[in-house]
Amino acid sequence: MRSRSKGPRRGADLKQLGTIENAAVLCDAGKIISVGTTKDALRDSWLKKNRKRITEIDCSGKIVLPGFVDSHTHPVFVSPRLVDFEKRIEGASYEEIASAGGGIRSSVEAVRGAGKRILADKILTVLREMAAHGTTTVEAKSGYGLTVESELKSLEAIQQAASRWPGTVVATLLGAHVVPKEFQGCSQKYVEIVCTEMIPLAARRKLAQFVDVFCERGAFTADETEQIFAAATRHGLSVRAHVGQLSETSLQPFLRFNPASFDHMDHVSDSDVIELAKHDTIATLVPGANYFLGLKDYPNARKLIDAGVPVALATDYNPGTSPTLSMPMAMSLACTHMKMSPEEAIVASTINGAWALGVANQKGSIEPGKDADVAVFDVEDYREIPYWFGMNRCAMTVIAGAISHEQGTFPERLRIQ
Ligand SMILES: [Zn+2]
Repeated sequence: MRSRSKGPRRGADLKQLGTIENAAVLCDAGKIISVGTTKDALRDSWLKKNRKRITEIDCSGKIVLPGFVDSHTHPVFVSPRLVDFEKRIEGASYEEIASAGGGIRSSVEAVRGAGKRILADKILTVLREMAAHGTTTVEAKSGYGLTVESELKSLEAIQQAASRWPGTVVATLLGAHVVPKEFQGCSQKYVEIVCTEMIPLAARRKLAQFVDVFCERGAFTADETEQIFAAATRHGLSVRAHVGQLSETSLQPFLRFNPASFDHMDHVSDSDVIELAKHDTIATLVPGANYFLGLKDYPNARKLIDAGVPVALATDYNPGTSPTLSMPMAMSLACTHMKMSPEEAIVASTINGAWALGVANQKGSIEPGKDADVAVFDVEDYREIPYWFGMNRCAMTVIAGAISHEQGTFPERLRIQ
């Protein structure tokens, strides 16, 4: 799949996969050196010269995609939130659960008490499982520590896990996830800690590339989000924000900070949609959260795409609202509930995810010069990837040219007669 344009894909370009049949990808030293038909590859002069030292990975009868770029995850937590799960089944809303002591705050105590090594081990397990589902680049947020010490510990745990995983991890400081209970009623004091302690330390120790804010009623206001964005910018960190999950926020005041992405986007005004179509800020949609919260409504992907807003898909992997690490599941939800086409879902999960993380020069498409990160699916047609839901058809994941995950072939191929 080729990235073609210089910016993120939008509009009709979101449908262009650039599919090659009977394809071959030549890789060397972790990079893609050529991509084309197998016939052409066999005539390649580099290949002829190096034939003997080449390892061939046979993908015949399968679909090869760029490794997924999951551009929105919260992997630094200790336990699943089963009480929230049950309460929600009984009818409690997201905000009712939060005000009863559940929600994000209930993950905080465990993270504060956990050692860095335990957190890193848990993150590493998740990264490996993500690779088994075809993901090779992951954005990982802190955000369940909510003290300077625990947020930095979370970022260090991400860094430690990343150093033990062959894929690429992009770390984000989400100190402004929710106001911790010790700062209830004086959120400004907490925002100051985020701005004057967490951000400078994370930047100085090179623990994060991005700063994220949960801009929402019950979390942080638009003014506070701007303060945090300004602090991040002063310290050389890029910004992104959770916006419009529960209520609409005007996005235009944030655009001067050049955010990499606005994530969730369930509620967005028409004028913001028109404005976003003129920018490279990605609208990252996370339908796993809508699914798991049992919501009827999903982000209006069609409206965003048809207006020309660049859209990405991500899992939003987290213990409270989206406990899935499967990009194919997010893609399936995007197709069935947001009326994205399978082609749009693939582009949104690969090259546009890479744009959302500022890594589009190395990731997100199979092109010469990019990192040799690909996912191989045991299906005959790419449309089967979002079609089969709740199961994993990823047969193999190659990261930097080496097999990182390989699954036994399926005992019996599922076929519709
Ligand atoms: Zn999130």
